Amino acid sequence: MTAEVETEVLIAGGGMVGLSLAVALADAGLAVMVVDRLDPAAMKEEAFDGRSSAIARGSQQALSVLGLWPGMAEAASPILDIRISDGHPGSERRGGASSLFLHFSHRDAEEGPAADKGASPGTPLGHIVENTAIRRACLARVKTLPNLDLRAPAELASVERSAAGVTAVLGDGTKVSARLLVAADGRGSAQRRAAGIAVTEVGYGQTGIVATVMHERPHNGVAHEHFLPSGPFALLPMTDGEAAGGRRVHRSSLVWTERTNLVPAMLALDDPGFAAELQRRFGDSLGQLALWSTRRWSYPLSLLHAERYIDQRLALVGDAAHGIHPIAGQGLNLGLRDVAALAESIVDARRLGLDIGSAAVLQRYQRWRRFDNMALIVATDSLNRLFSSDLPPLRLLRDLGLAAVNRLPPMKRFFMRHAMGLVGELPRLVKGEAL
Ligand SMILES: Cc1cc2nc3c(=O)[nH]c(=O)nc-3n(C[C@H](O)[C@H](O)[C@H](O)COP(=O)(O)OP(=O)(O)OC[C@H]3O[C@@H](n4cnc5c(N)ncnc54)[C@H](O)[C@@H]3O)c2cc1C
Repeated sequence: MTAEVETEVLIAGGGMVGLSLAVALADAGLAVMVVDRLDPAAMKEEAFDGRSSAIARGSQQALSVLGLWPGMAEAASPILDIRISDGHPGSERRGGASSLFLHFSHRDAEEGPAADKGASPGTPLGHIVENTAIRRACLARVKTLPNLDLRAPAELASVERSAAGVTAVLGDGTKVSARLLVAADGRGSAQRRAAGIAVTEVGYGQTGIVATVMHERPHNGVAHEHFLPSGPFALLPMTDGEAAGGRRVHRSSLVWTERTNLVPAMLALDDPGFAAELQRRFGDSLGQLALWSTRRWSYPLSLLHAERYIDQRLALVGDAAHGIHPIAGQGLNLGLRDVAALAESIVDARRLGLDIGSAAVLQRYQRWRRFDNMALIVATDSLNRLFSSDLPPLRLLRDLGLAAVNRLPPMKRFFMRHAMGLVGELPRLVKGEAL
């Protein structure tokens, strides 16, 4: 006999964004089903995803309200300061190692009575959390919500959306009916393609190399972003780790943007050779660098933006709607803001007894999120182009610009509060309020 399941929201994709949305909606009392093609046990392994994410303060507030933050807090390392520098380390002929020219401190983020309520001065700008820790926290929280049905590994064999509702058939023949389908199935979103939603996609010719690095000296909560001609090179503060023999070591997460044609050679280096390349680019402010584990990951980088986020009974969230350069560590943060805005639009409609998959609800979500996402897409794209250029006039312009920002506290505060996700029309969850 074929199983038939009635739910309210069917979510395609149980990545960090899809699961966060599922938790938000189920926590607010809705019946939710999530379908992911991957085995959750595999998603929790380090081999699956070696990245760490910079979680902005606004995102942390949302994750706290959803009961997700406690599950990852132990793995979260606070970002107290951000140091941005420019130059040609290893090439004295071209100006040599960078000199520090822009410094953001958590102490400068808030000042005076206008500071955001609930965010006391001196609290971190954000946190660096391993993606495996975020996934583990999401999967553990899912188990506490009886109205959240996670099907994984599973496939959506067919989906039909009409004015009356959504009907889907899973790979095992289970028939599912819902009021709304959410595509949280990542950059290559099958549901976005099936809806005929076009995307703007621009390749950067760059690849992000990711690894975990150990260093002699503590990072003291400082995130380093170093602009090199091939792209930004970031070392982001992680929690200390325990090496062989129980020795405690200081660790940072490496996101090294390199020209794609050079990446295979870098990945093929042995551990000491790879560490030497890192040291040459980063310098020795953290002492000797070495690899925490031999494993390295690489991610081809491109900009992607869907021409619209909605269709009949369909909403796109996270990377299914937008993919940005990791230069500012904001991709997941944008996805979490999508989650907060969509969950609020759905929950508000449901409380009024309205159809949660109606065009009015979906349009509210799209209006809310497209502008914010667009602004960040443009900002990260321009930053990457400006900082990945080696043309002397552009280098001079950016150095002058950043030196000027460094001397203007209100301007610095403006940038910091954007990066912390505390600007604009904030959804309740991002403000740290219940849905
Ligand atoms: C190098 C790098 C560094 C980054 N650093 C940061 C950072 O510091 N901070 C930050 O905010 N962001 C960062 N990002 C961006 C962030 O990683 C992404 O925005 C985020 O992972 C997107 O999550 P998602 O859940 O939307 O998509 P995904 O992680 O792609 O998840 C999609 C899910 O859908 C499932 N799926 C796909 N197709 C199907 C299907 N047909 N049926 C069922 N399931 C399906 C997949 O199995 C997967 O589980 C970084 C990105 C890169 C590349």
